[in-house]
Amino acid sequence: MRFVEFANLEPGLVKSSGLVNEPFRDAEAKSSKMSQAEITNMKQQKQQPVPLGTLIGRELRSEKLDKPTLKYGQAALAKKGEDYFLIKTDYQRVLGNPSTSFSVFAIFDGHNGISAAIFAKENLLNNVLSAIPEGIGREEWLQALPRALVAGFVKTDIEFQQRGETSGTTVTFVVIDGWTVTVASVGDSRCILDTQGGVVSLLTVDHRLEENVEERERVTASGGEVARLNVFGGSEVGPLRCWPGGLCLSRSIGDTDVGEFIVPIPHVKQVKLSNAGGRLIIASDGIWDLVSSDNAAQSCRGLPADLAAKLVVKEALRSRGLKDDTTCLVVDIIPSERPILPLTPKKKQNLLTSLIFGKRYQDSANRTNKLSTVGVVEELFEEGSAVLAERLGKEFPLESNSGLLRCAICQVDQPPSEGLSINAGPFFLCANCHRKKDAMEGKKRQVDQL
Ligand SMILES: [Zn+2]
Repeated sequence: MRFVEFANLEPGLVKSSGLVNEPFRDAEAKSSKMSQAEITNMKQQKQQPVPLGTLIGRELRSEKLDKPTLKYGQAALAKKGEDYFLIKTDYQRVLGNPSTSFSVFAIFDGHNGISAAIFAKENLLNNVLSAIPEGIGREEWLQALPRALVAGFVKTDIEFQQRGETSGTTVTFVVIDGWTVTVASVGDSRCILDTQGGVVSLLTVDHRLEENVEERERVTASGGEVARLNVFGGSEVGPLRCWPGGLCLSRSIGDTDVGEFIVPIPHVKQVKLSNAGGRLIIASDGIWDLVSSDNAAQSCRGLPADLAAKLVVKEALRSRGLKDDTTCLVVDIIPSERPILPLTPKKKQNLLTSLIFGKRYQDSANRTNKLSTVGVVEELFEEGSAVLAERLGKEFPLESNSGLLRCAICQVDQPPSEGLSINAGPFFLCANCHRKKDAMEGKKRQVDQL
């Protein structure tokens, strides 16, 4: 699903983003706010071509004026020592060109050992970047990112599994470029967004079998068994797990010893903040098992990021002490021209928010709040399907420049004659990645039986 919120656009502003396919579907849905004349006016303006030079000029100007400042902090307490995190700021997509810089904040919560978490931390970013076409501009890079994240996650999983180790890891991987935040996640580490006005929303989906019906159905359909642990005496205990393996998560990187229907295909959500900015809180389940998204956000409002991260961890430990690895990253995306203003919502806005949203803002694993309804965030992209063909889509470049076929996952080039594996879909997968695709869809057993 891909849609763009237009309610924030001022009349006359032409959106140069190629993401816009059906721009007025949403605008019309909000006809209570806009008169028919205004909508018609917007349509007419949309249809008038804008010279490329004007668009480029606008983009350059707005980038210069608009680029926010990032302030961040982290706090962690180890129980098992299986949480890892990654912070990379001002990473240049095109080396030597500061205008291509972006930042990455990620958490890797390992299980059954630490090797998958470490491997993902060391390789995932490069694998994502290798799936980005070369020589593209900023808008195209942001559009290519959701697909590249899928390819990068799957490639990292394949490479790790080839090492024959059995550990696994959750990944919550956040890319910040200007005001655009792209979050890819597998497992149950979360990223929440707190925007001005005190609106808290979830940018990830919890891939837990206990809480995610869709994922339970997918795993079962692919040949896995979902059940609780059966202890001596026949009574069932603990959360729902997938068998063989006994994992509570439905998606992860690694986990070679668990069925391959535990897939590394991430849920991806991309949003653009208003120039009021916002705060991201990224944390492992050591936090979220004990603190709701709302409480985590509220507990640290008004504090700078480094203190905020410590306070969220403290809040989580308050009730039961340290039971699990607990890692928290706080990232403030702040307008550059202003002094650093930690988010302190006005009381009036808080009241208004609670009046409008009432109980909807309580936590729910499978629901994200409709950010666009409050007019502060544009939702650019969201897709969570576990089917690879639905994630790579039509636009994936089938051929590299040399006329060779390029695998959409591992980016290896092969001559068409060696094209061992051309799918029904419009993208190419090498034999190895095709095997992975089949295995993730539960087709491996059939192949094995042949
Ligand atoms: Zn491949």
